[in-house]
Amino acid sequence: MPDARLVDSNATFASFAHILDARLLRALADMGFARPTLVQTKAIPLALENRDILARARTGSGKTASYCIPVVQKILSAKANLPEEDPARQATRGLILVPTRELAEQVSAHLRGLLAYCDQDVTVANVSGGTTTHLQKSLLSDNPDVVVATPSRALALLQSKALSLTSLDSLVIDEADLILSYGHDEDVRQIFGGGYLPKVFQSFLMSATMTDDVEALKGLALRNPAILKLEEDED
Ligand code: ADP
Ligand code: MG
Repeated sequence: MPDARLVDSNATFASFAHILDARLLRALADMGFARPTLVQTKAIPLALENRDILARARTGSGKTASYCIPVVQKILSAKANLPEEDPARQATRGLILVPTRELAEQVSAHLRGLLAYCDQDVTVANVSGGTTTHLQKSLLSDNPDVVVATPSRALALLQSKALSLTSLDSLVIDEADLILSYGHDEDVRQIFGGGYLPKVFQSFLMSATMTDDVEALKGLALRNPAILKLEEDED
């Protein structure tokens, strides 16, 4: 559970019914998410207006759902507008970069919970695990809607063309402060600079602390972001 002080006592997830798919609201209720946290209240509507997001909020403040919910909602909306037989339906639209395999597993589990009522409408592949390159490629062969990966894995799969991001709509860098200290700096730069990404997509930079590294990433990844800082007055 999130820290009680970080929950938005003025809001409920039901108050997002006008912007979120009913299947996501049902799943959130099953997961025990009744009220959004402060970072979720701020990030979800802004993200659904396609703003880039820079969020700094302490550990335990619910940052995962604050980006997973809009990423998934945007995919559901994009698919709702495409005919059933349109091959463009099945493409990777979300990429979530995390510093460690453990976090990739947690984020994937959170996505699976959110998608409990979406059947196979939205597929998730965690390609950060200790699996063989062959298995990772087969995980990607059906163009999963969301890919969760460490930067090194994502870059290797882009270089081998197993992963295509030409339809990318949302790119998340979670634990941005840690991702650079884990030595992923150069990989992240190559993902952005290697010609793999489309001209326009939305980026999220999520962090518990604002470091020089996060500032540097901000310049690389974000365009005119909404800046959410949720730490100052809470101790
Ligand atoms: P952060 O990434 O900011 O450290 P997490 O996204 O990991 O935080 O969330 C911390 C914990 O709080 C997780 O166990 C998560 O499932 C739970 N949680 C997040 N948001 C809510 C919410 N709105 N209602 C109930 N539990 C929540
Ligand atoms: Mg987190």
